[in-house]
Amino acid sequence: MHYAQIAIPRPLNSTLTYIIPDSLIGKIKPGYRVSVPFRKHTSVGFVMEITQTLPKDLVCENIKEIKDILDNDPIFSTQMLDLLKWMSKYYCAPIGEVCKASIPSKLIQIKPVKRRKISEPAEKNFSKINSAQLTLNSEQAAALNSIINSLSSKDKKPILLHGVTGSGKTEVYLQAFEEVEKMNAHGILLVPEISLTPQLVQQFQSRFGEKVAIYHSGLTDAQRFHEWEKIRDGKVFVVVGTRSALFAPFKDLKLIIVDEEHDASYKQDEGFLYNGHDSAIVRANIHNATIVLASATPCVESFINYESGKYNYHYLATRATGALLPDIEIVDMRTQRNTFTKEKQSEIISPPLFKAIEEILSKKEQALLFLNRRGFANFILCRDCGHVFECPNCNIALTHHMLPKRMICHYCEFAIPVPDLCVKCNGTNLKPMGQGTEQLEEELAKMFPDSKIARLDKDTSTKASLRKTFLSSMQQQKIDILVGTQIIAKGHDFPNVTLVGVINADTSLHLPDFRSYERTFQLLTQVSGRSGRGDKPGKVIIQTFQPEHPSIIFTRDHDFKGFVDTEKQNRKALNYPPFTRMANIRFQSNTDETTSKTAKKWLSMLKTICNSLNISDDVHLLGPAPCPLHKIRGKYRWQLLIKAPNPKILSKILLRVNHIINSSPSAGCRITIDVDPINMM
Ligand SMILES: [Zn+2]
Ligand SMILES: [Zn+2]
Repeated sequence: MHYAQIAIPRPLNSTLTYIIPDSLIGKIKPGYRVSVPFRKHTSVGFVMEITQTLPKDLVCENIKEIKDILDNDPIFSTQMLDLLKWMSKYYCAPIGEVCKASIPSKLIQIKPVKRRKISEPAEKNFSKINSAQLTLNSEQAAALNSIINSLSSKDKKPILLHGVTGSGKTEVYLQAFEEVEKMNAHGILLVPEISLTPQLVQQFQSRFGEKVAIYHSGLTDAQRFHEWEKIRDGKVFVVVGTRSALFAPFKDLKLIIVDEEHDASYKQDEGFLYNGHDSAIVRANIHNATIVLASATPCVESFINYESGKYNYHYLATRATGALLPDIEIVDMRTQRNTFTKEKQSEIISPPLFKAIEEILSKKEQALLFLNRRGFANFILCRDCGHVFECPNCNIALTHHMLPKRMICHYCEFAIPVPDLCVKCNGTNLKPMGQGTEQLEEELAKMFPDSKIARLDKDTSTKASLRKTFLSSMQQQKIDILVGTQIIAKGHDFPNVTLVGVINADTSLHLPDFRSYERTFQLLTQVSGRSGRGDKPGKVIIQTFQPEHPSIIFTRDHDFKGFVDTEKQNRKALNYPPFTRMANIRFQSNTDETTSKTAKKWLSMLKTICNSLNISDDVHLLGPAPCPLHKIRGKYRWQLLIKAPNPKILSKILLRVNHIINSSPSAGCRITIDVDPINMM
């Protein structure tokens, strides 16, 4: 008898065993799609392995037969199967769900996939406009050389490409992929978010024309499948895409570049929780491909990997245009109160920032003002009784918006009209607290009535196309001052921007997350890097209530190394990654009681697991405790953090945990395992 181990795209603990009918013996191989009877239906299945014998505990009469084979070719290569199996094991995720996440949804349906012409191409065809190579400076050339050498070498290490903002990393990528094309091989460029990097996408399209595929979550199912086929059939040699482009079905993969490698959006936050950055390293390793991790602010873990010899390293210390890094000035907001005259009173814009804006406007240059809070005010407070208006589903303050005039929950979109009376004491003394981008825009309009001001955040640019319009008006200097959230912080290259203002550097500093200092440093460095990229010198003004904070001081001094050294000591002292490996077990249910009870029960189960594995002394269990965002969309959330000295020990524990979750589900409480958690909220 011939048997196949089949992964079904459902949350099942393992693969299922099916008999291969005689007619299909020899045709069915690992990586093929098949149709199989599953429960009372027919389901798609992915062939993971073929065996001649049965797994030990299976009785032959219970086994069903595979119905049919669905395609002429396998949809997973053996290398891809290796990656999927690794991801399933490492992230404690059902193999069928992992397979499902890696392919276009069309391939989950039980139909042979027909090749047909597509009427809606994913992106407009770009002609090769400025396809000429730019001349590299010596730092860029050295980095490119080392990538090219690595392409053909047998012994490979990941390359950490650390280049200051504006150092011309993109041109290095382009020329590295040109080399890949010459070798008739394939490559992947991963980016955090496609719509935020229109310039980069455009550069790839103009350099490589139709030989580049663009792959991201904004595509329709049909477009996604179309791009996937182009990649599988070798019609393109390079794909630019977000996290899921990691699964591009290239046969001869030689190069993966992870742009903005520090970006948290490489971590999938819902459903199958995997890290695209780390999985890309594993995929490169399976293919013996070169992997380049690039950023102006590499994450602490990557930099330590370089220092310990695991990664090679290239530093691009100068900007490609020869422009200098901007001067960064810190404004201590504690001393800035009441320094304005009556008509120019502002709680948002300090006098030094005001003067700097006036100055660049007079020179017809542009400014970017960064405030990481959208809406008008952060919350509304009753000054009589202290009541704060919160979302009933999320226990989080409702954000005050003016356009339209409503109080909105940024987590579940719950909304109410802006109240006139306090619901608790009926008082009328309600005050909007904290400032958002709407309020900033309004104040700027009052202060600089003759200038053109635009606001770019989630509220003004719901569609990617709108963002593009904003960014191109900025490019064409139709906007004097652009106000925005994170969206404006990274990747953009506006040569005429000579002033960047950070309205409140403290917003991200005190989140209950061990990475909050690092995130703040990265964000401030990235946003500062938007200033002075052209031939005019740039300036940055950072407003803060904590001017002595290391994240802010090291940003001012452009001192990445200083920041990492400090952060390394902190992490070591407090036993955080990379000095420990973590997994977060998250519990959620409809009542706080069920959630907390389940979480507490799990603490004692985990202690038992550690005892039986004889690792109690090495492993730290933190919690259980309510998540910082305790209630979201009506669900109460708790978490329990496991800290283990290395991935091996962590995976031993998680194997047991996963087994218990699958074999005895907790009634009414959802339990998820987040390995190497990024989002601690
Ligand atoms: Zn009140
Ligand atoms: Zn809510």
